[in-house]
Amino acid sequence: MRTDSAVFRQLGIIGCGLMGGSFALAMRRAGLVRKVVGYSKSPSTTEQARALGVIDVAAPSALQAVTGSDIVLLSVPVAATEATLKAISHAVDPAVLYMDVGSTKADVVMAARRALGPKIGSFVPAHPIAGKEVSGVHNAEATLYDGAPVILTPLRETDPQMVARATELWTRLGAKVLTLEPEAHDTSFAAVSHLPHLLAFAYFSAVAGQPGGDDFMALAGPGFRDFTRIAGGDPEMWRDVLLANADAVLEQSALFRTHLDALEFALRSRNADALHNLIRSASEGRRNWRQRSTK
Ligand code: NAP
Repeated sequence: MRTDSAVFRQLGIIGCGLMGGSFALAMRRAGLVRKVVGYSKSPSTTEQARALGVIDVAAPSALQAVTGSDIVLLSVPVAATEATLKAISHAVDPAVLYMDVGSTKADVVMAARRALGPKIGSFVPAHPIAGKEVSGVHNAEATLYDGAPVILTPLRETDPQMVARATELWTRLGAKVLTLEPEAHDTSFAAVSHLPHLLAFAYFSAVAGQPGGDDFMALAGPGFRDFTRIAGGDPEMWRDVLLANADAVLEQSALFRTHLDALEFALRSRNADALHNLIRSASEGRRNWRQRSTK
């Protein structure tokens, strides 16, 4: 066995779904873990993860998944964070690295403070900017985090050594680590992730729900496909994310409405110049935008 200080003895996964399963597979592929123990709410999910070879051992509880682990990943819906951390809180060890992968961070941090109290130092909140519309362990992939940004939102109480370990770990998985305050994270993602999902859900429902909607969609091309791709997201996950970041999402939604109003006004008044200027401004901005990740 390698004597690499970055290699973990045992990974405990709580929530053996897309993100947790992909993390386990990526850790194995990178040779960073010897054994993976997993737990999910439904025993059938945990068993599926074992049958797929994503985890080695199916644990009957969150507590048993963390027992003996020197790294623990919470990959549950964000609303389940507090109950999950409470379930393991008395076993939390300052020498063990605990991380989550939740899409929102201020609520996760508050949940962690309530559940862990003074033991919060070894918890490093994380959000990998990777994923898919499909959920579940059967969609997990070892390459999910390749080239993806991973945002860490450490707190003033977070042990710097744990932040360093988390940074090294994600880097060795092929991710690019960034650090943000939890609130700055949530404000940013309200604009670039949560609002677009809200709009995609609304837009898809508006088209599909009208008389003749099915016929319209039968004619749809790449524009419709690309614009609505994220409307296929997991309902439970997106309900939780939108609720957890409701204020910031509503602010972004109000801002969006002013831009929609301006476009509608130009259209209603048949003002071609105004309409052209609004479209040109967006079009030029979009062409100049460069995505940070390789995904
Ligand atoms: P997923 O595929 O549905 O997996 C979630 C897993 O958590 C399921 O195995 C589920 O088990 C389990 N679970 C739910 N409640 C639980 C509880 N109370 N205790 C233990 N296990 C529980 O979802 P995912 O896409 O991996 O999302 C997981 C987290 O990643 C979420 O916090 C999400 O915000 C974040 N995230 C997702 C994406 C994405 O694109 N999907 C991207 C970035 C971050 P059952 O099967 O038994 O219900």
